[in-house]
Amino acid sequence: MATLTVLGSINVDHLLQVDHFPRPGQTLTANQYDIVAGGKGANQAVAAARLGATTTMIGCVGEDAIGAQMVAQFGADGIDTAAIDTVPGQNTGLAMIYVDSQGENNIGIWPGANAALSPERVLAHHDRITDADLLLLQLETPVESLEQAAELARASGTTVVLNPAPARDLPDSLLRHVDIITPNETEAEQLTGIAIDSLDDADRAAQALHQRFGIKTVMITLGKRGVWLSEAGEGRSIPGFVVDAVDTTAAGDTFNGGMVTALLEGQSLAEAVRFGQAAAALSVTRMGAQSSIPTRDEVLGLLA
Ligand code: ADP
Repeated sequence: MATLTVLGSINVDHLLQVDHFPRPGQTLTANQYDIVAGGKGANQAVAAARLGATTTMIGCVGEDAIGAQMVAQFGADGIDTAAIDTVPGQNTGLAMIYVDSQGENNIGIWPGANAALSPERVLAHHDRITDADLLLLQLETPVESLEQAAELARASGTTVVLNPAPARDLPDSLLRHVDIITPNETEAEQLTGIAIDSLDDADRAAQALHQRFGIKTVMITLGKRGVWLSEAGEGRSIPGFVVDAVDTTAAGDTFNGGMVTALLEGQSLAEAVRFGQAAAALSVTRMGAQSSIPTRDEVLGLLA
């Protein structure tokens, strides 16, 4: 069976539901508070595992109870956790998330143990990368480690998928090792300088990513408008599913986990985008990150 390795962040999310975001200097009482497992790497690994992929995670947690609890939960979701390191003297990474009444979010992050995911740790788990069919990366762990991982993957024929989130500048040396890139509108603008207001803009940004970095496949996620898919320069829009959104946290993560799962099953790029979008649409109808990720049966139900 085709296998996936996700290298990335593991966070505990503190989620506050508010009527509106606090203004500078304002103190707000929330309507609801929840502690849930998050972090882009972990969210994507859980999405892929729940949706049917054979999944290994490379990451770091702190020496605390919540880190141990989350690793146990990843195991329960069917993820191979042997390459998750516990870092002495560190806290597990955390995110403070406000969700307003429109379902929009506002997030502050403390990396904690995620900052300890060094190139040396990546090398220590190199077989998890070279033996995998696909490596999925995001940007909440040190960039030099992502470069190390992408280089190992390229050299061994492992497909490299980069979700360049959260938005930041990236070295060419990383982008040149990427086979498929999945930015949202903000991240596509950060990498190309092209603001995405229309499908024409998405096409121009995709062309820039193909030409400047030699990336074969570009998928720009456009929120509820769906995805712009560009393969070797040929672009088209793949509309999303219409749902009532209550919390868009982890929409992109669920899309990425679902999309790579379908690719590993041998589905085409367009089919994989549809599968990822169905999973993401279901996730925005629920609160939270990993708690909002649907099961494979739910996704197949929406696609039927
Ligand atoms: P991110 O969460 O990384 O900002 P997007 O907002 O672009 O990414 O969402 C990723 C994917 O999730 C979209 O391409 C779409 O398929 C799905 N999605 C996001 N928001 C909605 C929504 N309100 N309704 C339906 N699908 C959505």
